[in-house]
Amino acid sequence: MAIVPEVAAKLVTGGIDVAVEAGAGAAARFPDEEYRRAGATVEPDAASALRGAAVVARVQPPTLEEVADLPDGVSLVSFLQPVASPEIVRALAAKGATVYSLDLLPRISRAQSMDALSSQATVSGYRAGLAAAEHLAKFFPMFMTAAGTVPPAKVLVMGAGVAGLQAIATARRLGAVVRAYDVRAAAKEEVQSLGAKFVELGLETQDGAGGYAKEQSAEYLARQQELLAAEVAAADVVITTAQIPGRAAPVLVTTEMVEGMSEGSVIVDMAADSGGNCELSVAGQDVHYHGVTVVGLSNPPASMPTHASFLYSRNIANFLALLVKDGELAPDTDDEIVAGTCVVRDGTVVHGPTAAALGLDSGDRDGPTGTEGTGAEAPGAEAPGSGSAPPDNTEGQGS
Ligand code: NAD
Repeated sequence: MAIVPEVAAKLVTGGIDVAVEAGAGAAARFPDEEYRRAGATVEPDAASALRGAAVVARVQPPTLEEVADLPDGVSLVSFLQPVASPEIVRALAAKGATVYSLDLLPRISRAQSMDALSSQATVSGYRAGLAAAEHLAKFFPMFMTAAGTVPPAKVLVMGAGVAGLQAIATARRLGAVVRAYDVRAAAKEEVQSLGAKFVELGLETQDGAGGYAKEQSAEYLARQQELLAAEVAAADVVITTAQIPGRAAPVLVTTEMVEGMSEGSVIVDMAADSGGNCELSVAGQDVHYHGVTVVGLSNPPASMPTHASFLYSRNIANFLALLVKDGELAPDTDDEIVAGTCVVRDGTVVHGPTAAALGLDSGDRDGPTGTEGTGAEAPGAEAPGSGSAPPDNTEGQGS
């Protein structure tokens, strides 16, 4: 849900009228009554909630049918993955809309409170840790009992970004012994600060722009797989979270590596929606192979919708504060964050990679922001079906 009742109340206090589609928050456990108490208007359906809206906040991009219901000239804030959704962008531009995609947010300190990719990655990492514990037929913690001593589970986390660090913290809280690996050099200290051991492969590190990893060559990945095989074989649980913005997720665990794992081992693949870090992963399914369960997590934030929405909604409210002054829509188009996230401005596609995907000249700039710290490999430059997957709540989006 893009706006939870608590945030709706703050917006209303700030002079903004908030309209919500009836039942939109139900799946995330936010009943209509709470929105009414917050001072929002609950409309019977999406079309009436949208009528007269100056700004529409959503989780997922609208469908073409939903675009048709948007008021002309509306401002839209959402996860959009615009390069992967050119037809939607075209339809929004035809409506004279102004469109902000939160997956393009520049990674600068001032934008952290609006960083929806990070807030949802936090939820995903936590969910990955829990899913691993649920699927393993062993304890995570060590137990010393009268019947004997149970050793702690051995967990290997691959990819120690926002989600990976949260998976490490969750597995550690449950008592597992955790090892973790990442291609970025900066990850080592963060892994160690959570009480996990950093796995050194002796490979060259691969830091890209904006804190993201660079895409690795096929040779690099093959060497990495070879060196990681023993680590994978020794683990009860492997949690994979590795992503490269704009690319399919790198394959870290091959079928052969799975065959080397012990009976009952578990792999939780958090990158399943963007191709998977394990060759055997299927998004949204548990695959059983050679005694190993491969859990292809799909849209993990949707399985913890209350707090996923709580965090996303805070991100939205902090972003709206850049667009609205004294209750009036007045975006500062020169602001690095406003400019960096803007895909379409008043009907003109201004995001370079999206304009290129549509065969258009971008209105006024070449890339996601052109500003330091964001880099040309910003997450919006997605190939279809790849990249960091935003949450996929199909319910409860209208607000
Ligand atoms: P992400 O979701 O794009 O990728 C997840 C992790 O996978 C990354 O740590 C990446 O290095 C790793 N990875 C990629 N290929 C790999 C491979 N072959 N083997 C092992 N690991 C591989 O990344 P993310 O979590 O969104 O962000 C990465 C970092 O960016 C974070 O650690 C964080 O410190 C930083 N960050 C900064 C800001 C900010 O400054 N505002 C905001 C968010 C994140």
